Amino acid sequence: MWRPRRQPSPRRRGSKSGNSRGKNTLQPLHLFCDFDGTITQHDTLVYLATRLGAGPDFVHHVGEEIRAGRLTLRDAIAAEIRTVRLPFPEVARILRQEISLDPGFVALAEWCRDRSVPLTILSAGFHEIIELFVPKADFPWIEVIANRVEPDPVAGWQCHFRDPGPYGNDKRKHLRRAQETGAYCLFVGDGLSDREAAETANRVFAKHSLAEYCRERAISFHEYATLEEVRTFLAEESAAPPLKGVSSP
Ligand SMILES: [Mg+2]
Repeated sequence: MWRPRRQPSPRRRGSKSGNSRGKNTLQPLHLFCDFDGTITQHDTLVYLATRLGAGPDFVHHVGEEIRAGRLTLRDAIAAEIRTVRLPFPEVARILRQEISLDPGFVALAEWCRDRSVPLTILSAGFHEIIELFVPKADFPWIEVIANRVEPDPVAGWQCHFRDPGPYGNDKRKHLRRAQETGAYCLFVGDGLSDREAAETANRVFAKHSLAEYCRERAISFHEYATLEEVRTFLAEESAAPPLKGVSSP
């Protein structure tokens, strides 16, 4: 069990009101984390479309269509990924070579494992790509909730989304389910598909466009640069008495 010990301190960048939007009582912590641009330093879907698919002009056009409200993120991802026609092993090799994990990810994941804190990756991307960076064999305690992709070098890669909604994976639904069981949900993200999750979470760590969105909507959040800051925050929160929260490793 873990509970928020105190409100965000002023030194934490980007915090608004410090409202934790949750009951300040003993609650089990559940950490939810976006994948692309959050666990990885660069978005693998953007890399796929820009470098291995249709190219930057197409990606720029799709971005404008999303901003204009003419295309959902789900349809945008499908359109972009359909332009990839390379075999999966070749793409896997390139992605592993070009995309790095956030330098704080492994330590954060191990912090969760050592304290039996559930860690769930919520992604608008694909299991097949996530497995390249967070293989189940190495991180068996991490739950992954994502879409599927079927690499087709002839017709282009085909997306199979979990949900019919605008993001293809309704991240908010999973936070609400955890909250219904009494969990205190901390969400970490960076982008468009994270907005509803940020609106729902008890505490939010955000960067890039998600931080801008939180600022505009007066959603309290911690602005962060690397996941090491999330781990440090959790360690500090659970370090002081009364320590009835996270169990010691
Ligand atoms: Mg992201």
